[in-house]
Amino acid sequence: MNVLNRRPLFVLTQMVILVVVIMAPASQATGQARTSETVIQKATGQFEDSPLIITSLSQGLYVFSGDGGNVTAIVDDSSTLLIDSGLASRISELSDAIFRTTMRPVTRLVNTHWHFDHTGGNTYFGSSGVTIIAQENVKKELSSAEDVPFVGLRDGHYPPQALPGLTYQSSLTLQQGSQKLTLENYGAAHTDGDTVIYIAPANVAVVGDIFSNHFYPIIDLSSRGSIDGMIHSIDRILAQTDEQTKIVPGHGPVTTRANLKDYRDMLVQVRQRVKDLIAAGKTMDEVVAAVPTKDFDARWASGYVTPEVFTRMVFTSLAGANDSR
Ligand SMILES: [Zn+2]
Repeated sequence: MNVLNRRPLFVLTQMVILVVVIMAPASQATGQARTSETVIQKATGQFEDSPLIITSLSQGLYVFSGDGGNVTAIVDDSSTLLIDSGLASRISELSDAIFRTTMRPVTRLVNTHWHFDHTGGNTYFGSSGVTIIAQENVKKELSSAEDVPFVGLRDGHYPPQALPGLTYQSSLTLQQGSQKLTLENYGAAHTDGDTVIYIAPANVAVVGDIFSNHFYPIIDLSSRGSIDGMIHSIDRILAQTDEQTKIVPGHGPVTTRANLKDYRDMLVQVRQRVKDLIAAGKTMDEVVAAVPTKDFDARWASGYVTPEVFTRMVFTSLAGANDSR
C-alpha cells in the first residue's frame, strides 16, 4: 500500500514555510482586511487548501490530515471504523483516499466533538448507513444553532442523518478487529461533548481538539468549554498513557506524550498568570495588553488562534467560572 509518511510531512513543512514567506508582505499590505478575518475564516482557508496527507501509525491504523481535523481509520477484516470526518467540502476526496488506503467500507464513525471540521462528513457517511457514535452532548450541539465567542464560529442545525445514532455519557468500549477502543468523556473541556479514544494494543490515544499540535487551543465557551476542564482532561490523558503512546491531536502531526505534557504546562502557567491579573482587578483588555502568553508564543502561536484570542477565551473562562479549581 502506498502510504505516505515522513517525506511528504517534510515537504509539507517546507511548503508551509514557503507560503508564510510569500504571504507575509501581502498580509501587511492588507492589514485591515486580515485583522478582521475571524479565527474560523482563517482556519477554513487552511483546511480548504492543505494537501491531504496519509500517515500509517501501525498495521491497519491510519491518520488522514489536512482537510480539517485529523481523521483516524482503524481497519478490521471487513470494515473501517473512522474517528472524525473532516471538512464537508472535501468529503469525496477524503472518502476516496480512505477507500484506496483501507480497501474496506466505512461502517462506524466516532466524532471527538461537534465542530464543523470534525463532523463535515457526517451527512455523507450518515446518509449511506454508517453508524455515528459520540458523547451524548454532541447530538444536542449538532441539532441546535451555536455561536462560539471570539472565533466567529456559527454552526449547528445538522440534518437528522448527520446526528449520532449511538451516544454514551462517560465511557463506552468498542471492538474493531484486534483493537479495543475505549471512549472516555472527562466532563466539559474543549466542548461539553469531547471524546478521547484509547486504542489498544496499538497504544494510540486520539484526543480531538483538547490538544492541537502545536497551537493555542480554541476553548468553546458556547458549549461549556473551559480552561479548567481542558487541563483536567489532559491530566486524565497523561495518567492513561505512557512514553510510547502515539498521541493523535485534533490538528497537526501525530506526536508524543512528552509534547502533550509541555502543552499542559503551558496551559497551567497561562491560567495562573490570567488568574493573578484578574485578582489584581484587571479588565479583559488590560489582561490582553499584559501578554500573559509572551514567552510561549514562539512555540504555540503559529496556528490560527492568536495569543490575543486565546487570552480572551482564558479570561472569560476564569472570570465567568464559579469553579475555583
Ligand atoms: Zn474543535
